[in-house]
Amino acid sequence: MDYKDRLARARLALEQSRLDALLITHLPNISYLCGFTGSAGVLVVSQSEYVFFTDGRYTEQAHQEVKGVRIKILQGKSAPAAAANWMATQKSLRRIGIGAAHMTVAERGAFAKALPRKARLVAAPAIVERMRMVKDPEEIAKIRAACHLGVALFDRLLRVVRPGVSETQVAGELEFEARRLGADQMAFSTIIAGGRRSALPHGRASQAKLPLRGFVVCDFGVILANYCSDMTRTLHLGRPPMEARRVYQAVREAQQAALDAVKPGVTVGEVDGAARKSLQKHGLGKFFTHSTGHGVGLEIHESPRIAAGQMDLLQPGMVITIEPGVYLPGKVGIRIEDTVVVTDSGCEILTPCPKDLVVV
Ligand code: ZN
Ligand code: ZN
Repeated sequence: MDYKDRLARARLALEQSRLDALLITHLPNISYLCGFTGSAGVLVVSQSEYVFFTDGRYTEQAHQEVKGVRIKILQGKSAPAAAANWMATQKSLRRIGIGAAHMTVAERGAFAKALPRKARLVAAPAIVERMRMVKDPEEIAKIRAACHLGVALFDRLLRVVRPGVSETQVAGELEFEARRLGADQMAFSTIIAGGRRSALPHGRASQAKLPLRGFVVCDFGVILANYCSDMTRTLHLGRPPMEARRVYQAVREAQQAALDAVKPGVTVGEVDGAARKSLQKHGLGKFFTHSTGHGVGLEIHESPRIAAGQMDLLQPGMVITIEPGVYLPGKVGIRIEDTVVVTDSGCEILTPCPKDLVVV
Protein backbone atom coordinates (compact mmCIF):
# COMPACT_ATOMS: atom_id res chain seq x y z
CA MET A 1 0.00 0.00 0.00
CA ASP A 2 1.29 3.46 -0.88
CA TYR A 3 0.97 5.11 2.54
CA LYS A 4 3.32 7.95 1.58
CA ASP A 5 1.06 8.99 -1.25
CA ARG A 6 -2.06 8.73 0.90
CA LEU A 7 -0.52 10.84 3.67
CA ALA A 8 0.60 13.44 1.14
CA ARG A 9 -2.90 13.64 -0.33
CA ALA A 10 -4.43 13.98 3.15
CA ARG A 11 -2.01 16.83 3.87
CA LEU A 12 -2.97 18.56 0.64
CA ALA A 13 -6.67 18.32 1.52
CA LEU A 14 -5.79 19.72 4.93
CA GLU A 15 -4.31 22.83 3.34
CA GLN A 16 -7.37 23.24 1.15
CA SER A 17 -9.59 23.11 4.25
CA ARG A 18 -7.41 25.73 5.98
CA LEU A 19 -6.59 23.39 8.85
CA ASP A 20 -3.23 23.20 10.63
CA ALA A 21 -3.70 19.55 11.48
CA LEU A 22 -6.06 16.64 11.26
CA LEU A 23 -6.61 14.67 14.46
CA ILE A 24 -7.63 11.18 13.33
CA THR A 25 -9.18 8.82 15.86
CA HIS A 26 -11.25 6.53 13.62
CA LEU A 27 -9.23 3.31 13.36
CA PRO A 28 -10.12 2.42 9.73
CA ASN A 29 -8.93 5.91 8.70
CA ILE A 30 -5.70 5.39 10.64
CA SER A 31 -5.20 1.97 9.09
CA TYR A 32 -5.78 3.47 5.62
CA LEU A 33 -3.22 6.22 6.09
CA CYS A 34 -0.40 4.42 7.89
CA GLY A 35 -1.14 0.66 8.06
CA PHE A 36 -1.80 0.23 11.81
CA THR A 37 -4.37 -2.52 12.47
CA GLY A 38 -4.45 -2.53 16.29
CA SER A 39 -7.34 -1.34 18.45
CA ALA A 40 -5.86 1.81 20.05
CA GLY A 41 -4.27 4.69 18.22
CA VAL A 42 -4.42 8.33 17.21
CA LEU A 43 -2.83 9.81 14.11
CA VAL A 44 -2.02 13.49 13.74
CA VAL A 45 -1.38 14.79 10.23
CA SER A 46 -0.06 18.34 10.37
CA GLN A 47 1.47 20.62 7.76
CA SER A 48 4.93 19.60 8.89
CA GLU A 49 4.62 16.16 10.50
CA TYR A 50 2.88 12.81 10.62
CA VAL A 51 2.80 11.39 14.16
CA PHE A 52 1.15 8.19 15.31
CA PHE A 53 0.33 7.59 18.99
CA THR A 54 -0.49 4.26 20.58
CA ASP A 55 0.06 2.63 23.97
CA GLY A 56 2.55 0.13 25.39
CA ARG A 57 0.56 -2.92 24.26
CA TYR A 58 1.26 -2.06 20.64
CA THR A 59 4.94 -1.10 20.73
CA GLU A 60 6.07 -4.01 18.60
CA GLN A 61 3.06 -4.14 16.29
CA ALA A 62 3.25 -0.41 15.59
CA HIS A 63 6.90 -0.65 14.58
CA GLN A 64 6.11 -3.59 12.29
CA GLU A 65 3.06 -2.10 10.61
CA VAL A 66 3.27 1.67 10.59
CA LYS A 67 5.06 3.17 7.62
CA GLY A 68 6.13 6.73 6.82
CA VAL A 69 5.06 8.14 10.19
CA ARG A 70 6.79 8.95 13.50
CA ILE A 71 5.61 6.61 16.30
CA LYS A 72 5.19 7.95 19.83
CA ILE A 73 4.34 5.87 22.87
CA LEU A 74 4.23 7.51 26.31
CA GLN A 75 4.59 4.96 29.12
CA GLY A 76 1.42 4.75 31.17
CA LYS A 77 -0.52 7.07 28.87
CA SER A 78 -3.34 6.21 26.49
CA ALA A 79 -3.00 7.11 22.81
CA PRO A 80 -5.40 10.10 23.05
CA ALA A 81 -3.64 11.42 26.16
CA ALA A 82 -0.24 11.11 24.46
CA ALA A 83 -1.57 12.87 21.36
CA ALA A 84 -3.09 15.68 23.41
CA ASN A 85 0.19 16.15 25.32
CA TRP A 86 2.17 16.39 22.12
CA MET A 87 -0.25 18.72 20.36
CA ALA A 88 -0.16 21.03 23.38
CA THR A 89 3.55 21.57 22.72
CA GLN A 90 3.07 22.46 19.05
CA LYS A 91 2.55 26.21 18.85
CA SER A 92 1.72 26.17 15.14
CA LEU A 93 -1.44 24.11 15.68
CA ARG A 94 -4.32 26.58 15.87
CA ARG A 95 -7.08 25.00 13.83
CA ILE A 96 -7.22 21.26 14.41
CA GLY A 97 -9.73 19.26 12.38
CA ILE A 98 -11.58 16.37 13.99
CA GLY A 99 -13.90 13.76 12.52
CA ALA A 100 -17.17 14.76 14.17
CA ALA A 101 -18.76 11.44 13.24
CA HIS A 102 -16.06 9.53 15.10
CA MET A 103 -15.48 11.42 18.34
CA THR A 104 -17.60 11.38 21.47
CA VAL A 105 -18.37 14.55 23.39
CA ALA A 106 -16.22 13.22 26.26
CA GLU A 107 -13.22 12.61 23.97
CA ARG A 108 -13.54 16.06 22.46
CA GLY A 109 -13.72 17.56 25.95
CA ALA A 110 -10.56 15.75 27.04
CA PHE A 111 -8.62 16.96 23.97
CA ALA A 112 -9.89 20.53 24.38
CA LYS A 113 -8.86 20.57 28.06
CA ALA A 114 -5.31 19.47 27.27
CA LEU A 115 -4.77 22.01 24.47
CA PRO A 116 -3.69 25.63 24.91
CA ARG A 117 -6.36 28.32 24.66
CA LYS A 118 -5.41 29.40 21.17
CA ALA A 119 -5.93 25.96 19.67
CA ARG A 120 -9.41 25.17 18.39
CA LEU A 121 -10.98 21.85 17.52
CA VAL A 122 -13.16 22.22 14.44
CA ALA A 123 -15.28 19.69 12.55
CA ALA A 124 -13.26 18.68 9.48
CA PRO A 125 -14.72 17.60 6.15
CA ALA A 126 -14.65 13.83 5.57
CA ILE A 127 -11.17 14.00 4.02
CA VAL A 128 -10.05 10.41 4.60
CA GLU A 129 -13.50 8.91 3.97
CA ARG A 130 -13.57 10.60 0.57
CA MET A 131 -10.10 9.32 -0.28
CA ARG A 132 -11.17 5.81 0.71
CA MET A 133 -14.11 5.83 -1.73
CA VAL A 134 -11.82 5.14 -4.70
CA LYS A 135 -9.81 1.96 -4.23
CA ASP A 136 -6.35 1.37 -5.71
CA PRO A 137 -5.57 -1.89 -7.57
CA GLU A 138 -4.08 -3.51 -4.46
CA GLU A 139 -7.23 -2.80 -2.47
CA ILE A 140 -9.47 -4.07 -5.28
CA ALA A 141 -7.48 -7.33 -5.36
CA LYS A 142 -8.00 -7.71 -1.61
CA ILE A 143 -11.74 -7.02 -1.81
CA ARG A 144 -12.03 -9.45 -4.73
CA ALA A 145 -10.32 -12.15 -2.65
CA ALA A 146 -12.65 -11.48 0.30
CA CYS A 147 -15.69 -11.60 -2.01
CA HIS A 148 -14.58 -14.86 -3.60
CA LEU A 149 -14.22 -16.37 -0.15
CA GLY A 150 -17.76 -15.13 0.57
CA VAL A 151 -19.08 -16.76 -2.59
CA ALA A 152 -17.44 -20.07 -1.60
CA LEU A 153 -19.58 -20.03 1.57
CA PHE A 154 -22.72 -20.25 -0.53
CA ASP A 155 -22.09 -23.95 -1.31
CA ARG A 156 -21.85 -24.69 2.40
CA LEU A 157 -25.05 -22.74 2.94
CA LEU A 158 -26.93 -24.82 0.36
CA ARG A 159 -25.88 -27.99 2.16
CA VAL A 160 -27.20 -26.90 5.57
CA VAL A 161 -30.36 -24.90 4.81
CA ARG A 162 -33.27 -27.30 5.52
CA PRO A 163 -36.70 -27.01 7.12
CA GLY A 164 -36.39 -27.53 10.89
CA VAL A 165 -32.76 -26.34 11.13
CA SER A 166 -32.38 -23.19 13.24
CA GLU A 167 -31.16 -19.94 11.70
CA THR A 168 -28.28 -19.76 14.20
CA GLN A 169 -27.18 -23.26 13.22
CA VAL A 170 -27.06 -22.25 9.56
CA ALA A 171 -25.13 -19.08 10.48
CA GLY A 172 -22.76 -21.11 12.66
CA GLU A 173 -21.94 -23.59 9.89
CA LEU A 174 -21.36 -20.72 7.47
CA GLU A 175 -19.12 -18.87 9.92
CA PHE A 176 -17.11 -22.00 10.74
CA GLU A 177 -16.55 -22.56 7.01
CA ALA A 178 -15.47 -18.91 6.65
CA ARG A 179 -12.82 -19.41 9.34
CA ARG A 180 -11.75 -22.70 7.83
CA LEU A 181 -11.20 -20.93 4.50
CA GLY A 182 -9.02 -18.29 6.19
CA ALA A 183 -11.33 -15.38 7.01
CA ASP A 184 -10.14 -13.14 9.87
CA GLN A 185 -13.73 -12.78 11.05
CA MET A 186 -17.23 -12.07 9.76
CA ALA A 187 -17.77 -8.52 8.49
CA PHE A 188 -21.11 -8.24 10.36
CA SER A 189 -23.62 -10.44 12.19
CA THR A 190 -24.76 -13.02 9.65
CA ILE A 191 -28.35 -12.56 8.55
CA ILE A 192 -30.34 -15.76 8.09
CA ALA A 193 -34.04 -14.92 8.13
CA GLY A 194 -36.55 -17.62 7.24
CA GLY A 195 -40.29 -17.60 6.50
CA ARG A 196 -42.04 -14.55 7.96
CA ARG A 197 -38.76 -13.34 9.45
CA SER A 198 -37.49 -12.81 5.88
CA ALA A 199 -39.64 -9.66 5.88
CA LEU A 200 -37.25 -8.11 8.46
CA PRO A 201 -34.60 -6.40 6.30
CA HIS A 202 -31.98 -6.98 9.01
CA GLY A 203 -33.17 -10.27 10.49
CA ARG A 204 -30.07 -11.39 12.34
CA ALA A 205 -29.99 -15.21 12.64
CA SER A 206 -32.25 -16.23 15.57
CA GLN A 207 -33.12 -19.49 17.30
CA ALA A 208 -36.17 -19.80 15.03
CA LYS A 209 -36.32 -22.97 12.98
CA LEU A 210 -36.59 -22.68 9.21
CA PRO A 211 -40.15 -23.43 8.03
CA LEU A 212 -41.27 -26.13 5.57
CA ARG A 213 -42.08 -23.47 3.00
CA GLY A 214 -40.98 -19.90 2.47
CA PHE A 215 -38.08 -17.64 1.60
CA VAL A 216 -34.79 -17.54 3.48
CA VAL A 217 -32.76 -14.31 3.19
CA CYS A 218 -29.05 -15.03 3.64
CA ASP A 219 -26.81 -11.95 3.92
CA PHE A 220 -23.19 -12.52 4.91
CA GLY A 221 -19.68 -11.19 4.53
CA VAL A 222 -16.16 -11.84 5.73
CA ILE A 223 -13.07 -9.82 6.51
CA LEU A 224 -9.96 -11.14 4.78
CA ALA A 225 -6.65 -9.25 5.05
CA ASN A 226 -8.55 -6.26 6.53
CA TYR A 227 -11.02 -5.94 3.64
CA CYS A 228 -14.74 -6.80 3.72
CA SER A 229 -17.06 -8.72 1.44
CA ASP A 230 -20.85 -8.48 1.30
CA MET A 231 -23.48 -10.51 -0.54
CA THR A 232 -27.08 -11.64 -0.17
CA ARG A 233 -28.96 -14.47 -1.78
CA THR A 234 -32.57 -15.44 -1.08
CA LEU A 235 -33.52 -19.12 -1.28
CA HIS A 236 -36.93 -20.77 -1.18
CA LEU A 237 -37.81 -23.80 0.92
CA GLY A 238 -40.41 -26.00 -0.75
CA ARG A 239 -42.26 -25.22 -3.95
CA PRO A 240 -42.72 -21.46 -4.32
CA PRO A 241 -46.25 -20.22 -5.07
CA MET A 242 -46.68 -18.21 -8.32
CA GLU A 243 -46.84 -14.93 -6.40
CA ALA A 244 -43.51 -15.65 -4.65
CA ARG A 245 -41.87 -16.35 -8.00
CA ARG A 246 -43.29 -13.13 -9.42
CA VAL A 247 -41.93 -10.99 -6.56
CA TYR A 248 -38.55 -12.74 -6.70
CA GLN A 249 -38.33 -12.05 -10.42
CA ALA A 250 -39.18 -8.38 -9.86
CA VAL A 251 -36.33 -8.02 -7.31
CA ARG A 252 -33.96 -9.76 -9.67
CA GLU A 253 -34.91 -7.38 -12.50
CA ALA A 254 -34.50 -4.37 -10.22
CA GLN A 255 -31.05 -5.55 -9.17
CA GLN A 256 -30.07 -5.99 -12.82
CA ALA A 257 -31.45 -2.54 -13.69
CA ALA A 258 -29.27 -0.97 -10.98
CA LEU A 259 -26.21 -2.99 -12.08
CA ASP A 260 -26.78 -1.82 -15.66
CA ALA A 261 -26.86 1.79 -14.44
CA VAL A 262 -23.43 1.57 -12.77
CA LYS A 263 -20.77 3.41 -14.78
CA PRO A 264 -18.40 6.34 -14.31
CA GLY A 265 -20.03 9.76 -14.30
CA VAL A 266 -23.44 8.56 -13.11
CA THR A 267 -24.64 9.79 -9.72
CA VAL A 268 -25.26 7.18 -7.05
CA GLY A 269 -28.78 8.62 -6.77
CA GLU A 270 -29.44 7.58 -10.38
CA VAL A 271 -28.34 4.02 -9.60
CA ASP A 272 -30.78 3.94 -6.68
CA GLY A 273 -33.48 5.35 -8.97
CA ALA A 274 -32.95 2.58 -11.53
CA ALA A 275 -33.74 -0.11 -8.94
CA ARG A 276 -36.66 1.84 -7.50
CA LYS A 277 -38.28 2.55 -10.88
CA SER A 278 -38.03 -1.08 -11.84
CA LEU A 279 -39.86 -2.18 -8.68
CA GLN A 280 -42.46 0.56 -9.11
CA LYS A 281 -43.37 -0.93 -12.50
CA HIS A 282 -44.37 -4.09 -10.63
CA GLY A 283 -46.30 -2.13 -7.99
CA LEU A 284 -43.65 -3.03 -5.40
CA GLY A 285 -41.91 0.35 -4.99
CA LYS A 286 -43.30 1.05 -1.53
CA PHE A 287 -42.03 -2.28 -0.20
CA PHE A 288 -38.41 -1.38 -1.03
CA THR A 289 -37.73 0.33 2.28
CA HIS A 290 -33.97 0.85 2.34
CA SER A 291 -31.30 2.34 0.09
CA THR A 292 -29.86 0.42 -2.86
CA GLY A 293 -26.35 -0.02 -1.51
CA HIS A 294 -23.20 1.29 0.13
CA GLY A 295 -19.45 1.44 -0.30
CA VAL A 296 -17.39 -1.54 0.92
CA GLY A 297 -13.71 -1.61 1.86
CA LEU A 298 -11.92 -1.50 5.21
CA GLU A 299 -15.42 -1.12 6.66
CA ILE A 300 -18.55 -3.00 5.72
CA HIS A 301 -20.52 0.25 5.35
CA GLU A 302 -18.58 3.19 4.00
CA SER A 303 -19.05 6.04 1.53
CA PRO A 304 -20.78 6.48 -0.82
CA ARG A 305 -24.35 5.72 0.14
CA ILE A 306 -26.31 4.52 -2.91
CA ALA A 307 -29.54 6.31 -2.04
CA ALA A 308 -32.16 8.66 -3.49
CA GLY A 309 -30.90 12.20 -3.97
CA GLN A 310 -27.22 11.39 -3.32
CA MET A 311 -25.05 13.29 -5.79
CA ASP A 312 -21.69 11.46 -5.49
CA LEU A 313 -20.43 10.61 -8.98
CA LEU A 314 -19.30 7.06 -9.66
CA GLN A 315 -15.61 6.76 -10.56
CA PRO A 316 -13.52 3.79 -11.68
CA GLY A 317 -12.21 1.99 -8.59
CA MET A 318 -15.22 2.60 -6.37
CA VAL A 319 -16.51 -0.57 -4.73
CA ILE A 320 -20.22 -0.57 -3.88
CA THR A 321 -23.05 -3.00 -3.23
CA ILE A 322 -26.25 -3.25 -5.24
CA GLU A 323 -28.92 -4.73 -2.99
CA PRO A 324 -32.55 -3.91 -3.65
CA GLY A 325 -35.15 -5.84 -1.66
CA VAL A 326 -38.90 -6.19 -1.24
CA TYR A 327 -40.44 -6.80 2.18
CA LEU A 328 -44.14 -7.58 2.57
CA PRO A 329 -44.64 -7.13 6.33
CA GLY A 330 -45.49 -10.34 8.18
CA LYS A 331 -45.26 -12.33 4.96
CA VAL A 332 -42.14 -12.51 2.83
CA GLY A 333 -38.90 -10.73 2.14
CA ILE A 334 -36.46 -11.01 -0.75
CA ARG A 335 -33.09 -9.31 -1.25
CA ILE A 336 -30.37 -9.90 -3.82
CA GLU A 337 -27.00 -8.27 -3.24
CA ASP A 338 -23.72 -8.18 -5.12
CA THR A 339 -20.53 -6.25 -4.43
CA VAL A 340 -19.19 -4.60 -7.60
CA VAL A 341 -16.22 -2.48 -8.62
CA VAL A 342 -16.79 0.40 -11.02
CA THR A 343 -14.70 -0.02 -14.19
CA ASP A 344 -13.99 2.37 -17.08
CA SER A 345 -17.17 1.34 -18.89
CA GLY A 346 -19.48 -0.22 -16.29
CA CYS A 347 -18.83 -2.56 -13.42
CA GLU A 348 -17.34 -5.93 -12.56
CA ILE A 349 -19.30 -8.16 -10.20
CA LEU A 350 -16.97 -9.28 -7.40
CA THR A 351 -19.47 -11.81 -6.01
CA PRO A 352 -20.17 -14.08 -8.99
CA CYS A 353 -22.83 -16.49 -7.72
CA PRO A 354 -26.06 -17.71 -9.40
CA LYS A 355 -29.15 -15.56 -8.97
CA ASP A 356 -31.88 -17.83 -10.37
CA LEU A 357 -34.28 -18.71 -7.58
CA VAL A 358 -32.81 -21.70 -5.73
CA VAL A 359 -35.48 -24.04 -4.38
CA VAL A 360 -34.30 -26.28 -1.55
ZN1 ZN B 1 -25.20 -7.54 2.88
ZN1 ZN C 1 -24.75 -4.59 2.06
